[in-house]
Amino acid sequence: MPNNRPVRVRFAPSPTGDLHVGNIRTALFDWAYARHTGGTFIFRIEDTDRERVTDEYIAAALDTLRWLGLTWDEGPEVGGLYGPYLQSQRLDIYAEWAQKFLDQGDAYYCYCSAEELEARREAQRAANVAPGYDGKCRSLSEAELADFLSQGRKPVVRMRMPDGETTFTDLIRGEVTFDHNFVPDFVLVRADGSPLYTLAVAVDDVMMKVTHVLRGEDLLSSTPRQIRVYQAMGVALEDYPDFAHLPFVMGQDNAKLSKRNGEVSIAWYRDAGYLPEAICNYLALLGWSPGDDREDVSREEIAQLFTVERVHSSPARFDMKKLEAINGDKIRALDLDDFLNRTLPFLTRSGVIAGTDSEIELVKLALPIIQERIANLAEVPAMLKFLFVSEFSVDPEELPRISDEQSQAVLKSAHQALIGLNEWTHEAIEAALRSALIEGLSLKPRIAFGGVRIAVTGSHISPPLFESMELLGRDKSLARLELAVQS
Ligand code: GLU
Repeated sequence: MPNNRPVRVRFAPSPTGDLHVGNIRTALFDWAYARHTGGTFIFRIEDTDRERVTDEYIAAALDTLRWLGLTWDEGPEVGGLYGPYLQSQRLDIYAEWAQKFLDQGDAYYCYCSAEELEARREAQRAANVAPGYDGKCRSLSEAELADFLSQGRKPVVRMRMPDGETTFTDLIRGEVTFDHNFVPDFVLVRADGSPLYTLAVAVDDVMMKVTHVLRGEDLLSSTPRQIRVYQAMGVALEDYPDFAHLPFVMGQDNAKLSKRNGEVSIAWYRDAGYLPEAICNYLALLGWSPGDDREDVSREEIAQLFTVERVHSSPARFDMKKLEAINGDKIRALDLDDFLNRTLPFLTRSGVIAGTDSEIELVKLALPIIQERIANLAEVPAMLKFLFVSEFSVDPEELPRISDEQSQAVLKSAHQALIGLNEWTHEAIEAALRSALIEGLSLKPRIAFGGVRIAVTGSHISPPLFESMELLGRDKSLARLELAVQS
């Protein structure tokens, strides 16, 4: 089914929680395909299950896409010719189609109760027959119908699946065939009148003129049912969308992604200090490659280079370490103002600074010395806290490392070496400490400077020592050394 229509791709999540790695990988590929082809990127919210899809989750989904820079051309907030783009606002449309299918004889009312279905499934299992609806209500007699109605049973609407098979060409997997013995008649509308996913998704893809459905492999098996809906809608073959089912994203342990191995919400990554461009870069490599060994791609390059042919068919493995490394690289690539702007919310939220001009100025001086050392922005507050605390104290866990006799002697020498220093620059500080501690006391640098670092910054994890002391200033640095010697 080659598609010659103007490209229209949709991302259609059912936000029953925050969007996670798998969803966003799909969104990114949808977006990239649309951008690469100069097509339209549609964002549709599949919220027919309003008990599980809440307004908060929908708002969070919009927010996440926006934050990642995956802007949509049609969808919530921006509208478009084929809206509304929230399925909960399209219920009449689905009801109309379901009625049409009933009138055409493609669908029928099914009165089987959940208990009856379960009992028959049990019998199928026992007889080793493929499980699924057995077609009981396909042709009810007048008497049976009257009986159900007198019992006050509310029917579901079920789609009739003809004998035979469905074959389609998946752009990633090639030709895929489903034998209808394994695709039983399926429910389109529940007894309460609410539409099921298969009905809503197929109707919308047709009505929104979607040309390409790129989505997770978990939905591969629902494709023959959707194609059945297209047939009932009378869609011409050349107007079917092309399908591309993206490979699974597995956790590091080869199990399906879960919270434990990385399937946390994208909001979590944002709060943990990951940059949107790092997430896009990393997720792009999960199942796709730009064509060479390159691992550093910008959002624009992803759009420029993305083709479905380069999507792999084998599962991709989520690797937190690699994401972290890419995030570190993206942080190092930021210019100072950008780095500052992105970091400030982390510093204010954690209470390290209130956000005054002088604080921001100091942060700006300090950022270059930590830019090389961090893998995510959430590390910044702990690293820079020593510059802003009003009542300084050494982390109690670190105290034993500066209270023994040798450490105390080192700290005293350091204090003495620095007190007479004319010039308070990191070069001068370094020269003075090296001469007093390394040459004077014949200490190894780690021993010599480790204690000074703890005394001055409160922790053994901090930016480079001499630059830190320069930024902290003479008075505070000396006062902290004195405090450490007395303690
Ligand atoms: N709404 C479906 C989901 O979130 C996906 C729909 C589709 O891409 O076909 O699982």
